[in-house]
Amino acid sequence: MTQRTALVTGGTGGIGSAIVRYLAGQGHRVVTNYRDAAKAETWRQAMAADGIEVTMVPGDVSDPQASEAMIRAIEEKCGPVEILVNNAGITRDSTFHKMNYQQWMDVVNTNLNACFNVTRPVIEGMRARKWGRIVQISSINGQKGQYGQANYAAAKAGMHGFTISLAQENAKFGITVNTVSPGYVGTDMVMAVPEEVRAKIVAQIPVGRLGKPEEIAHAVAFLTGEETSWITGANLAINGGHYMGW
Ligand code: NDP
Repeated sequence: MTQRTALVTGGTGGIGSAIVRYLAGQGHRVVTNYRDAAKAETWRQAMAADGIEVTMVPGDVSDPQASEAMIRAIEEKCGPVEILVNNAGITRDSTFHKMNYQQWMDVVNTNLNACFNVTRPVIEGMRARKWGRIVQISSINGQKGQYGQANYAAAKAGMHGFTISLAQENAKFGITVNTVSPGYVGTDMVMAVPEEVRAKIVAQIPVGRLGKPEEIAHAVAFLTGEETSWITGANLAINGGHYMGW
């Protein structure tokens, strides 16, 4: 297999860590960003203890200048980014009539605008080298909407609009661009939901359980492989059958 430089944003989180492990396990040079250096070092050491070496660079993906600096730092340390997984994300839930501007902007900046901030500094290099793999981690709630998540659902749906436009523009340059839309996965983000609400969610999932981060990582590894050069502009829903729409 060809060893590639892979950037997984938000790689220290629940799903991100699984993606990092999977891509590193395939032999790629894996990089992720951090905002809190002490927290990042603890995470890096835990990964190293499992034999997973990860390059860490500072970077807030909601900030365009910080993202550009992050990409240049990665290029210096590991060479150009060939696989990009736009995974960093947050929620700031509220019903819309009570939502404030900050909650809206924080979620749109971190989930959607980050796709611009991080992808823009890598895309020209991918086009010049005629190879690239870009995956957005969206959400089931970008597909079906969700009570209390107008900000998150709008941002996540926007990520797929970004995917299908970028896929068209870059198909002739050996670059595939796809979306993975996970359903409810048992990470901190979902475990923060009150238990009785979680039980109601699980009751709606035909497979009868929350997803595992590894199940999302497996799909990302598939979409970023050498063999999947004819899959572009797709949205891969991985949700235990919770939503079977587009
Ligand atoms: P976590 O909260 O576990 O991890 C989120 C990661 O994103 C952390 O590493 C966090 O870093 C990073 N991050 C957040 N904001 C920024 C920022 N501004 N700049 C850089 N990094 C940032 O979330 P999950 O692993 O559960 O989710 C990963 C992705 O999957 C998200 O996009 C989420 O929306 C999506 N998703 C998750 C689902 C689930 O059920 N868990 C379902 C559907 C989609 P830090 O430690 O610095 O905060």
